[in-house]
Amino acid sequence: MQIPSIDLQKQYKSIKKQIDNAVGGDIRSGSFILGPEVAALEEKVASFCGVKYAVAVASGTDALHLALLACEVGPGDEVITTPFTFIATTETIISCGARPVFADIDLQTYNIDPDQIASKITARTRAILPVHLFGQTTGMNPIKKLARQHKLKVIEDCAQAMNSFYKGKHAGSLGDAGTLSFFPTKTLGGYGDGGMVITNSKKTAEKIRQLRNHGAAKKYYYKINGFNSRLDSIQAAVLRVKLRYLPKWTARRRLIASWYDQYLSASGVVTPKTAPGNHHSYNYYTIAISGNRRNQLRKYLRQQGIATEVYYPLCLHLQEVYKKLAYGKGAFPVAEKCQNEVLSLPMYPELGEKQVAAIARSIARYCR
Ligand SMILES: *Cc1c(COP(=O)(O)O)cnc(C)c1O
Repeated sequence: MQIPSIDLQKQYKSIKKQIDNAVGGDIRSGSFILGPEVAALEEKVASFCGVKYAVAVASGTDALHLALLACEVGPGDEVITTPFTFIATTETIISCGARPVFADIDLQTYNIDPDQIASKITARTRAILPVHLFGQTTGMNPIKKLARQHKLKVIEDCAQAMNSFYKGKHAGSLGDAGTLSFFPTKTLGGYGDGGMVITNSKKTAEKIRQLRNHGAAKKYYYKINGFNSRLDSIQAAVLRVKLRYLPKWTARRRLIASWYDQYLSASGVVTPKTAPGNHHSYNYYTIAISGNRRNQLRKYLRQQGIATEVYYPLCLHLQEVYKKLAYGKGAFPVAEKCQNEVLSLPMYPELGEKQVAAIARSIARYCR
């Protein structure tokens, strides 16, 4: 038995005709960067997410960077975020000249714990940057309340939260801006890099439209310093096909998660918990196993042909690159516990119930 952690080829085969037509059509159209295909995708994503504006950029990382800039995060500012996330979240804060300030996470959801944020707010704090990890949104009502009280911006990192909802509202539609990633392994993945900023603010959307295209307000006339961060038309063509399948694929991910929950219920590992009001999209199905057994379990599963991933093996505050931020070991006990205990199991819409049962049997066998 060989089970990969994600199988992109299987998905491509299921929609090959439509993808090939869309890509071929785009090549024949002769429009390769931005253009009508990208504008059409922006419109579809904005309505999918229930926001007024969506601006496509070159990656999820760029979406974060440009959203932070559009929210006027700059040198001397502090941005409060989670230490248990992908490096792009904080790398982009630093690209703006600002400083990431960490707050510990919630053990149930792996997301930043809103109760830990208030004590981190200083006169320099400019924004809060929650990351909706694994496909589950952060508790946004308490974060928005804090932001209102202290006049802070809220930027939601939704790289793993396409088609995730908080109290009926799509991830990224609750704060000042939300950022999406179309990296191939995300729930809406292209065949290359891509990203998008979603927002209800016209001003923010226009600023990002300028920033992504060298700061041009109109061709060859520049008001601000910008970047080359545009989405390719071919990626937009692929994503437009895939977006039509996303609700079906998410429903399937949720079904697979329910199989895992069921088959793992007596195994002794901790299965994912969904907070009330959240609609989890299961970009990843992440379990936890205590007692320093995670790496051994991972190795055991690998020997059975089952691939797994660890998101993330070292918290950001303990990374060498952030030594100068001067956080020590023990600064965020919950996040540090999670880095040692989490394991993301195979998860993709094409996974079958028999495979899920076999994975669960292997895990139970290891735990006995
Ligand atoms: C994938 C990811 C990003 C970056 O997206 P790219 O498209 O790879 O640049 C940012 N934040 C989180 C939490 C991610 O998982």
